Amino acid sequence: MFCPVCGSENIIKNGTIRNGKPKIMCKDCGRQSAGNPENKNISQEKKDIIDRLLPEKIPPAGIARAAGVSERRLQMYVNNKYDNVEKKL
Ligand SMILES: [Zn+2]
Repeated sequence: MFCPVCGSENIIKNGTIRNGKPKIMCKDCGRQSAGNPENKNISQEKKDIIDRLLPEKIPPAGIARAAGVSERRLQMYVNNKYDNVEKKL
């Protein structure tokens, strides 16, 4: 599970909404949202493709297409990735 707003995996479950879907709260951006099971995390395979293409000067749309993810999803992954890097430093 991850935050559909900022892509963070730093979320907590916060009960369920009326139709029984889990409700989640993001500890990073503070937004609450219903978990969307169709909106899965990017697979390791796709992450590998993105990581390989990121250093190349390819437009994000091209990387997203190559990896088979949406541009929005790609952006979340990249943001998340660089956030993690900053935290480690
Ligand atoms: Zn968030």
